Amino acid sequence: MLTTGCTHCGHKLAYDERHAGKTAKCPKCGERVLLSGPTGVLSPADVGERGAAPTEDEGMHLKILGIFCAALLCLGLVVTLIY
Ligand SMILES: [Zn+2]
Repeated sequence: MLTTGCTHCGHKLAYDERHAGKTAKCPKCGERVLLSGPTGVLSPADVGERGAAPTEDEGMHLKILGIFCAALLCLGLVVTLIY
């Protein structure tokens, strides 16, 4: 069970984990409240930012790709010099 405070009136809402990320109607003021995930505060902006940002793994892949391209270019030069 998770809890969050209503952003409109501060009323404490308790909800099941499977409802995390969804919106619920506050029983006190009737406004829609975003139910955050188990990791804490979760807003749609945070999720979007995290999804767009390249991970460390992706950066590593790009680095390898760069080295690979440079190696291919060198190989191409060598082949051109030989023939
Ligand atoms: Zn409320």
